Amino acid sequence: MRYSQTFIPTVKEVPSDAECVSHRLMIRAGLIRKVASGTYCYLPLGWRSLLKIIAIVRQEMNRAGAQEIIVPSMQPKEFWDKTGRSDDYGPTMFKLEDRHGRMNVLGPTAEEVFTTLVAGEVKSYKQLPLNLYQITPKFRDEFRPRFGPIRSREFIMKDAYSFDDTPEAVHKSYMAMYNAYCRIFTRCGIEYVIVEAESGEMGGSGSHQFTIPCESGEDTIVYTEDGSYAANLEKAAVDPATKEKSSGEIPAPQDVHTPNVGTIEAVCGLLKTRPRDMIKTLIYAAGEDVVAALVRGDHDLNPEKLTQTLGGVHTDLADEQTIEAVTGAKVGFAGPIGIAEKVSKLIIDHSVAAMASGVTGANKTDYHTKNVVPGREFPLEGDNVLVADIRYAEQGDTHDGRKLLFKKGIEVGQVFKLGAKYSVKLGAKFLDENGVEKPCLMGCYGIGINRILASAIETGNDGNGIIWPISIAPFETLITCANQDDQEVAKVADGLYQQLLDAGIEVLYDDRIMRGGIKFKDADLIGIPIRLTIGKKSVAEGNVELKLRRESRSENLPIHQAADKTVELAASLKQELLNKPRP
Ligand code: ATP
Ligand code: MG
Repeated sequence: MRYSQTFIPTVKEVPSDAECVSHRLMIRAGLIRKVASGTYCYLPLGWRSLLKIIAIVRQEMNRAGAQEIIVPSMQPKEFWDKTGRSDDYGPTMFKLEDRHGRMNVLGPTAEEVFTTLVAGEVKSYKQLPLNLYQITPKFRDEFRPRFGPIRSREFIMKDAYSFDDTPEAVHKSYMAMYNAYCRIFTRCGIEYVIVEAESGEMGGSGSHQFTIPCESGEDTIVYTEDGSYAANLEKAAVDPATKEKSSGEIPAPQDVHTPNVGTIEAVCGLLKTRPRDMIKTLIYAAGEDVVAALVRGDHDLNPEKLTQTLGGVHTDLADEQTIEAVTGAKVGFAGPIGIAEKVSKLIIDHSVAAMASGVTGANKTDYHTKNVVPGREFPLEGDNVLVADIRYAEQGDTHDGRKLLFKKGIEVGQVFKLGAKYSVKLGAKFLDENGVEKPCLMGCYGIGINRILASAIETGNDGNGIIWPISIAPFETLITCANQDDQEVAKVADGLYQQLLDAGIEVLYDDRIMRGGIKFKDADLIGIPIRLTIGKKSVAEGNVELKLRRESRSENLPIHQAADKTVELAASLKQELLNKPRP
């Protein structure tokens, strides 16, 4: 492609709402332009790169035995009502009414449509296993679209759905995807880590996330230094605390007047105590039930862990009315004493169970209770009482005795074992060898195509611009002609351009008639991996300058060798990516 004929609108200034380096560089290098909050046009460089990522994803999915199809983005809302997910997704799901008054959704994902499709076609175990996927736009009305393509409202996702007859077969399908994901991210040239993840409301039994460690990531990876454990923050399990010893007999509980003091900090100020000596009592709506959960005052309850402890039920903080009905007090004064009788379940975090005593709400407006001893004032066991890990991991926590470390990352993909949740609700059943009807066991597997692009840039850049992995770079090679207005130089550059095209190299030829300095700045900014530079001096010497974008040194090659050398170099850069060890 001749630069003079392309649409690569590079810019110096970036809008102030671009919050991370990849977002800024994608605008500056002319890869994207914003249309509205969380929606973007992908211009030629950006789209070329996305197409390359898509090609890698497609190739590896096909290799793993998955088959590509395409289903509508606009889906009947009733599909989502059947699984209850139109409520669960809430305002994140775009809904639209058609001219007949029927409600549709713009798919944020597609379990419902794929499962319904399979329900209509699959009758026998002989038709399984089946793995179907698509690479299509998805729509999510994110609460806070940010970081450009990393959290946008319309993005391209590869989503795959597997259908199997036995748990062993599910595991095989799951591992085929897991391994395909490793190959995909390796080939895309991004440094990733694999962490255990919560399957939460997806309803399944196992999940892994593929995450790119980087400061601007919105996910937190929790891991041990020896690499024996890595999970995301929602999943990361912590060792139970050891039981605290009290210095003597703890006096009987005592109510204290704490008027209008409903927050942990305020109570601590008034009672001269520390958050870690307080017990928070949180009332949750869990499906049709109301449950109470206890965590230490300095800890945060992890709703994903709570959901998991309750067997995958959707949980939400209860509304004011429910809280007041359960506790008999205004919000802010809930406490554990007597609460087990008022709720369907009392879940107590390990570190609360380990406390010698604590300060709690008194279930009486404007009162707290001191000297509350877990196991004495409220039960630690019983039919509806459970001690479990329901808080977020924190600095200082351990897992299997090893210290937990934390770092930020961008989630680029996730794989789930889903079990039979969707197939039961949507009727995807098969007859087994003995003619017994069973629901299909499912897995689902997502990859954010745009997030791969953004995280490659987020982790591959310097002060001057993008440094692409060759496999997903918009072009493999850039020819910069520093003296395009010199006929002889231009002729050599034109010739080299043709040679590279003939050799099958994806080449961008900067044939613009402008100062070399500007061209070099653009070259750094758009970051094409292999660079060939031709100018008056090099032509006079019969040479062309070869340089990799990621390195500062360059070498001179005889012009007639340049094409062959470029082909060789492109192949070896791709091979280098493949040789990287898997995490
Ligand atoms: P997140 O926790 O970041 O919101 P998610 O876990 O909800 O993501 P999934 O439902 O697992 O996302 O979707 C599969 C993949 O789609 C993700 O791994 C991610 O790469 C991509 N993705 C999800 N939401 C967005 C978004 N708003 N913009 C761009 N890509 C996204
Ligand atoms: Mg996810």
